[in-house]
Amino acid sequence: QPNSASLCPILTKFQNDCATPTPYLRKVADAIVDEMQAGLAVEGEGELDMILTYVDALPSGNEEGLFYALDLGGTNFRVRSVQLGGKEERVIATESEQISIPKELMIGTSEELFGFIATKLASFVAKEKPGRFQLEQGRKREIGFTFSFPVKQTSIDSGTLMKWTKGFHVSGMEGKNVVACLNEAMEVHGLNMRVSALVNDGVGTLAGARYWDEDVMVGVILGTGTNACYVEQKHKIPKLQSKSSSGTTVINTEWGGYSKILPRTVFDQEMDEKSLNPGEHLYEKMISGMYLGEIVRRVLLQMCKTSDLFGQFAPAKLSKPFVLRTEHLCKMQEDNTDDLQNVGSVLYEFLEVETNLNARRRVVEVCDTVVKRGGRLAGAGIVAVLEKIEKDTKRMSSGKRTVVAMDGALYEKYPQYRSYMQDALVELLGHKFASDVVIKHTKDVSGIGAAVLAATNSIY
Ligand code: ADP
Repeated sequence: QPNSASLCPILTKFQNDCATPTPYLRKVADAIVDEMQAGLAVEGEGELDMILTYVDALPSGNEEGLFYALDLGGTNFRVRSVQLGGKEERVIATESEQISIPKELMIGTSEELFGFIATKLASFVAKEKPGRFQLEQGRKREIGFTFSFPVKQTSIDSGTLMKWTKGFHVSGMEGKNVVACLNEAMEVHGLNMRVSALVNDGVGTLAGARYWDEDVMVGVILGTGTNACYVEQKHKIPKLQSKSSSGTTVINTEWGGYSKILPRTVFDQEMDEKSLNPGEHLYEKMISGMYLGEIVRRVLLQMCKTSDLFGQFAPAKLSKPFVLRTEHLCKMQEDNTDDLQNVGSVLYEFLEVETNLNARRRVVEVCDTVVKRGGRLAGAGIVAVLEKIEKDTKRMSSGKRTVVAMDGALYEKYPQYRSYMQDALVELLGHKFASDVVIKHTKDVSGIGAAVLAATNSIY
């Protein structure tokens, strides 16, 4: 079978531009470490925010009692109760409920949004069956609040909203303490609850995974967007001007902001120019689920214009931004049939185009090129974080197991992405270190993590 790329100069050029051979990946990993160090040195320096999370104490497994988690980060919020039974019993029971947020509240006032959340919390608590733990007199129920919007954290239980994203635009919130907003609403609704820990989903994942496994040092999200959090030595954080700089703390890298050395193509540039944040988060735009399909769409469109990929004309639908989604790429790459039937039906369903085998092969090659680059770059990022940890702790060279807790549908559901990522880890770390690194898929532990952090940071 001839390599179909050889018949298509655009595809060949695209593949070359996307290439990430090991020496190149090494440069990327080193550059990410440099940016991490710059961000730790001085507030606002470097491309990575390296946000202090104030999570100084990670779960040990000894936590006991009834705690809650509230997760707000998209079109749904989730409330969860967790009964923690200590080292032996761990999670005795957990209940959760997902509630969709009415569209008008996403663009309303903060009183409306938090009022709605408080009412739902109240009915969740009202429905609770008596468990092992009774709330002591004078104590409030404590919540770990996962709030996945950009926040400038000011302590473990406070932080100001920097800007709304993901379709939210609640008035009068930017620059305000999000925890105060929620606490006030709970007060107004006569709810006996308070927020004891404010975290993002990466920190929640790290804490949740750490609750069961003390070797967890990193939490990574690979879903619509991407982020990584890790355990850092306080004395290695120059911008932390606190006297008590012993021990460890969790850093939220906001690594999606990395943009320096990257294999950018003209398609990446064009997508970036049309994005809500041009010039920013270029790493995120190459590795996270929101963008992979869109890059493929742009390449296919160009191939249609300059060669006869789908016949004489480009399908009209192919001009629609974000019409091809990462799920579709995944479905096409999973196709094992001789004539790539499933690729054909995805293209028919979403682009309304009939295709021959040759066209299907080329489409799969484009998908593979984008996913390979994404997975390998994600691997380089993980290596960067691991090497930063290694520099200060020498964990890996002393043969210690080191666990990266991973969550997000892109990692979970895209086997090719996962295996390209794993390849990059082995190439960069070498077999010896790579065998001590465990990438652990910890689905949905961030809620438990937030609840456990409420326990760790209980005011009682
Ligand atoms: P979020 O990151 O929004 O909290 P998820 O972890 O569920 O939520 O990630 C959703 C993203 O994962 C989607 O935007 C999509 O890019 C990607 N995704 C979802 N399903 C699949 C799939 N079957 N194959 C590949 N990628 C997928």
